[in-house]
Amino acid sequence: VVHWSPFVQVYKKKYPWVQLAGHNGAFKPCDNGTILKKLTEKEYVCLNKILDDTYMLQITPKFHGKVEKEGVEYVKLQDLLAEFDNPSVCDIKMGTRTYLEEELIKAREKLTMRKDMYEKMVKVDKNEPTEEEHNFKAVTKPRYMQWRERLSSTATLGFRIDGIKQADRDPDKNFKTVRTNQEVAYVLRKHIDYRDETRLKLLERLKEIRSTLEKSKFFASHEVIGSSLLLVHDQPADGVARANVWMIDFGKTTPLNGDKQLDHRTPWVEGNQEDGYLFGLDNLVELFENLSNI
Ligand code: ATP
Ligand code: MG
Ligand code: MG
Repeated sequence: VVHWSPFVQVYKKKYPWVQLAGHNGAFKPCDNGTILKKLTEKEYVCLNKILDDTYMLQITPKFHGKVEKEGVEYVKLQDLLAEFDNPSVCDIKMGTRTYLEEELIKAREKLTMRKDMYEKMVKVDKNEPTEEEHNFKAVTKPRYMQWRERLSSTATLGFRIDGIKQADRDPDKNFKTVRTNQEVAYVLRKHIDYRDETRLKLLERLKEIRSTLEKSKFFASHEVIGSSLLLVHDQPADGVARANVWMIDFGKTTPLNGDKQLDHRTPWVEGNQEDGYLFGLDNLVELFENLSNI
């Protein structure tokens, strides 16, 4: 039953909330500019640590603790779209690697073969699986993810476009094979509607995020895998265009042992846990600087 009252209308959203990644049902709308994301232990631990890191706080959605609904635990987060008017959103997955070293070790020990990932692989390139994989009709998870990294810009540029929602269109998640600088630039130019004002605002914020991360103790002491930068912008008919970027998704962000630190730029070799996050952010900044010439 829908109770139609002035109260409901006051809080009625000006746009449908968009989710560009993750499972359906992982998110729920909440009160007043917040959303709920299904709680996972790794992410919950990170979000709590971020509360004590003045730098991380400047570039992440506000975290309001955990809540329970119908027996399910959620983290309550600032809805980053709330301040925008019909926003366009882009999820950029950061880093040269999208699986944790611990996942690689686990997969090697257990050798769990994934039929679903084999099928996704064959759909894109039927010649990619080895003879053995064809026989099993399955691949391991790191094998699948390493292949995805080479197929997209992850391996070479240290980031990839994971999903885009343009203001008045359906979300598009079909960027698996967007790999070269030119291909990425083409997609992003279109995403910002060829507006230099939007480009410059996003560029400034990306640089700010980079210098903020370079100062953060939290960032230096974690392997940051599968985390995204969420680019949001709008263009209200009457008013000034807005654009902003935040760091989201700490579901695979893992603390390093002891006082180990990463520089997030050194190339990965197994054991050093480097994730290429800042290598990717350097490339993304450079791309936004030259977007119209690429
Ligand atoms: P995956 O691990 O597959 O990337 P996930 O379940 O960890 O997914 P997130 O990556 O955190 O989920 O978020 C998925 C999508 O939901 C993002 O791409 C973005 O579109 C949206 N989203 C996440 N957090 C917020 C937020 N605080 N405000 C607005 N939108 C958000
Ligand atoms: Mg994500
Ligand atoms: Mg995640």
